[in-house]
Amino acid sequence: MINLTIPVFREIIVSIIKGVIPMNILVINCGSSSLKFQLIDMTTEAVAAKGLCERIGIEGSRIVYTPAGGEKITIESPMPTHTEGIKLVLDCLTNPEYGVIKSLAEINAVGHRVVHGGEKFAASTLLTEEVLKAVEECNELAPLHNPANLIGINVCSELMPGVPQVGVFDTAFHQTMPPKAYLYGLPKKAYTEYKIRRYGFHGTSHKFVTSAVAEFLGQKPEDLKTIVCHLGNGASICAVDHGKSVDTSMGFTPLAGLVMGTRSGDIDPAILEFYANKEGLTLAEVTNVLNKKSGMDGLTGGKSDFRDLEVGYKEGDADCINAIEVFCYNVARFVGAYAAALNGVDVIAFTAGIGENSGFVREKICAYLGYLGIALDPEQNGKRGENLLISTPDSKVKVCVIPTNEELMIARDTKAIVEG
Ligand code: ADP
Repeated sequence: MINLTIPVFREIIVSIIKGVIPMNILVINCGSSSLKFQLIDMTTEAVAAKGLCERIGIEGSRIVYTPAGGEKITIESPMPTHTEGIKLVLDCLTNPEYGVIKSLAEINAVGHRVVHGGEKFAASTLLTEEVLKAVEECNELAPLHNPANLIGINVCSELMPGVPQVGVFDTAFHQTMPPKAYLYGLPKKAYTEYKIRRYGFHGTSHKFVTSAVAEFLGQKPEDLKTIVCHLGNGASICAVDHGKSVDTSMGFTPLAGLVMGTRSGDIDPAILEFYANKEGLTLAEVTNVLNKKSGMDGLTGGKSDFRDLEVGYKEGDADCINAIEVFCYNVARFVGAYAAALNGVDVIAFTAGIGENSGFVREKICAYLGYLGIALDPEQNGKRGENLLISTPDSKVKVCVIPTNEELMIARDTKAIVEG
C-alpha cells in the first residue's frame, strides 16, 4: 500500500489531484471463470482500454482487448487461473504496439468489484490485510462470487506491489436500509446467528444512477425521492430516499424480487418442497432451477433475451406475451410498493440492458403508473443510448433513462479513497 507519509508519494498524489499527471485506475471485475477490466483515466473519466478474459480455468481461454480508438484484439492463451488472466491484461495494457501505458507504474490504483460485503461494509474501502480478512468472512454469503473477487485482489497485489487496491461492494449502498426493510419474518436466530436478512445487490449501479439522474435533472440526490429500475438479465429495483437506499427488491441473494431472465424472483417458499417432491430433485437442484431455468426462460421454454421476447410478443407468441406481461406487471408492482415506502416519488429512472434499450417495456410498465400522475412522451421514449427525460412536461413524476456505468462508479470511489 502507498505510504502517504513518504514525501515522494504525497507529491505524486498532489500532482494527480491537481491534474498535472493522469490518474489511471484499473477496474477489475472477477467472476468465477471470467474477468472484465477497464483502465480509466480519471482526469477526464475516459476509458483508455477495456476488455474481458473468458474461460479462465477452462480449455479455450482467451482475452478480448480494446484500446480506446483502436481495433478489438483477441488473443487465445491458456489461463489455468486468474493469475495468468491478470498477467495478460497487464501485458496488453503495456504492449508497445497496442498498449495504452508505458509501464505498470502508470497504474495509480486498482478498484475491485466485490459482490458481498455483508453488514461489514457500508462504503467502498481500501483493502488492507485486515479488511481482506473481513471480506473473506463474507464468502459464505456469496460462495460463487466473493472467492473469485478475492483471487483478483490477491493477484493484483502480488503483481502490482504498493499500488492501492480498493474494494467496491455490490451490497454497500443498501446498508442504509432500516431493519423493517431488511428483516425477514423468520425465527430471530436466522438473523442473529446466521445473518439471514435482505442485503440487496446492484448497489454500485443504483448509486451511480441515483447521482446521475439527479445531476441530469439539475438537482441533488439529497433533494429527491427516486426509484431506480435496474432492468437487465438480472434485475432489481431500489427505493432511494434523499440519496439513501431504503428498500430494494433483491434479498439475501440476487434470486429474490423481480421475475428475471432466468431467475424466478419472489415465489411462495412452500413451492420448493412441493416442486422437489414432484420432480424428484434435491433442494440444491430446485434452487438451481430457480436460478437458471426460471423467469423469462422458464415461462417461454428457452427465451430469456428481451430482443427475442419482443419479437415473439409482436408475432403473437402466447408464451412471449405472458412472459413480458409478467415482467412488466412485476416491475409496476414494485414501483407501486416503493412509491408507498417513500411516501411519494419525484423521479423514476430506468437503466441496464432492458431499461436503457426497450421503449416497449418502459411504456408497458408506465401504463400501470397513471395513478401517480405519470405521462410518457412517446417520441422521447423511442430514443436510445443517452440520458433521456421520457415523461411529458406536465407529468407529476419525472421518468428518465440513465445508462448505468458501474466501472466508472468503481473508479470514482477508488479515486476518492486514494485521494482521501
Ligand atoms: P446483465 O448485466 O444482468 O447480464 P444487461 O444489463 O446486459 O444484463 O441486460 C441484458 C438484457 O438487455 C437482455 O435481456 C437483452 O435482451 C436486453 N437488451 C439489450 N438490448 C436490447 C434492446 N435493444 N431491446 C430490448 N432488450 C435489450
